[in-house]
Amino acid sequence: MSGKVETHEFQAESRQLLELVVHSIYSNKDVFLRELISNASDALDKLRLESLRDSELEADTSDLHVALETDPGARTLTVRDNGIGMSRDEVMSLIGTIAKSGTAEFARKLKEANESQDAAASADLIGSFGVGFYSSFMVADKVTLVTRRAGERHGTRWESAGEGTYEVQTLDEAPQGTAVTLHLKPEDSEDRLFDYTDTGRLRQIVRKHSDFIPWPVRTTVERPAEDAAEGEDAAPERTVETLNSMKALWARSADEISEEEYKEFYRHVSHDWTDPLETVHTRAEGTFEYQAVLFIPSHAPLDLYQRGGHGGVHLYVRRVFIMDDCTALLPEYLRFVKGVVDAQDLSLNVSREALQQDRQIQLMHRRLVKKILSAVTSLREKDAERYRTFWREFGPAMKEGLLSDFDNRDTLLGLASFPSTHDPDEQTSLRDYVSRMKEGQEHIYFLTGESRTRLENSPHIEAFQAKGYEVLLLTDPVDEVWVEQIREFDGTPLQSIAKGQVDLDAADGSGDGEGAEKSAEDEQRDEDFAPLLGWLGTALGEDVKSVRLSSRLTTSPACVVGDAHDITPNLEKMYRAMGQ
Ligand code: ADP
Ligand code: MG
Repeated sequence: MSGKVETHEFQAESRQLLELVVHSIYSNKDVFLRELISNASDALDKLRLESLRDSELEADTSDLHVALETDPGARTLTVRDNGIGMSRDEVMSLIGTIAKSGTAEFARKLKEANESQDAAASADLIGSFGVGFYSSFMVADKVTLVTRRAGERHGTRWESAGEGTYEVQTLDEAPQGTAVTLHLKPEDSEDRLFDYTDTGRLRQIVRKHSDFIPWPVRTTVERPAEDAAEGEDAAPERTVETLNSMKALWARSADEISEEEYKEFYRHVSHDWTDPLETVHTRAEGTFEYQAVLFIPSHAPLDLYQRGGHGGVHLYVRRVFIMDDCTALLPEYLRFVKGVVDAQDLSLNVSREALQQDRQIQLMHRRLVKKILSAVTSLREKDAERYRTFWREFGPAMKEGLLSDFDNRDTLLGLASFPSTHDPDEQTSLRDYVSRMKEGQEHIYFLTGESRTRLENSPHIEAFQAKGYEVLLLTDPVDEVWVEQIREFDGTPLQSIAKGQVDLDAADGSGDGEGAEKSAEDEQRDEDFAPLLGWLGTALGEDVKSVRLSSRLTTSPACVVGDAHDITPNLEKMYRAMGQ
């Protein structure tokens, strides 16, 4: 006896995503298996952890594994795990909707790409978003999922053809864990490449994409019996084979791991289908042991600058998965880094809250940050192209570090790049700026604002341009904040050209207004303009503090200058946007 079958509609965004997957644009369909095995592996991790923490949990953890079951006659493939499983509510919320942050944004971009018939762009998008469970619909025209959460009595059956609706039903009985059965598309039946009921194919795919999964992935292989040649009725021999090697990648030594293996592992931990930009594999021995494999992605996630965008480092303790999204291991500004950290001496019961205070975690935190920053520094020195990609994608996040990570401020300043008047296309490092400074120039000049074009047309910049001084053009909102706190680079002070008195012509004494000794010419000029300045001062009234003559400008008649300690218009806008 089971509950009645209910039909539900997929959430609009899920439907859109599914539609794209069903009309698959990928040539590489094999990856569906990696996604399902990855989910099964996560489910086994979760069950092991939950049973360690909760001795009351009624669950069988004696033989945790993934099984691939094939039926060539019915053309089905089942991926089964005996892990944590899902409750009915979980099935509906996890499978029927996409809870990932950034989905709305993703769906919007996807729609644009589709409308402009840009297959490459949508492939790119869907690749960077990762479709997980839905990738089943690349190879199946119907998917049936049967699951029971460990510790619960009833199971749940879910089924869908991937076209707008799905069915759910409560089952009186079901094995613990989850079984996903794919009814393979009939149109693929002639193609051996898509014969996912062939154990040889499955072995090949698992070895390629899921070898490091820490749980056995098993299948039953049938071989014709030894004496099959003589008696044709001899039953085939059935043996259970484990398809993967199960070696934790981070525990192996770096020189025996191929680039392809790192990439597969990256896909597993990041759910990102594109290749990582940089890999950092490191270990520490001695009093506090850990192993870590960290990745810098090749593109920023859509939600990088939204609040609550999550971190991507998974914490293990002695090979036991503890948590994903372990934010205590890296600072907020490195939230785009993905990977795994396996610590030797932490308690399995450590909680998220306790982690923040843990001295060992703090120590690891410091070392991992150093490792990542030095990887970026050497990227900057050795691979300009990839560094450029890095800075384009993550520069604004890195600059947040200038505000929060005092220990590494100099390193961060050293590896940062900024647009400048020196080159319309290439950004510059502060070091290169300093090396180009003119004879007698004492400051690194910068201007902050909304866009490069606006800054280039700003009246503030005229005199600097005319005299051949280079000016940094800072257009990220975060620039407004760090320039307030960081006053110098390597001994050279930074100076906003929109603020206070910039003594551009200190040498020839014709600086803005109150220079020490004024020439007779200047005095004459002051006298000539005094009535105009007086009138302007009265006319503008409270809107300005003072009106004065300036040598800043060459072609514009006037400009507004902030006081040295005023906040800039862009910053004012940013604070206002934040509701302050
Ligand atoms: P992701 O793995 O990136 O979260 P998926 O689409 O692959 O996205 O899966 C969505 C969610 O469904 C998972 O996060 C998990 O909570 C749940 N899920 C999927 N497969 C399983 C499974 N075999 N066992 C338990 N939960 C699962
Ligand atoms: Mg998944």
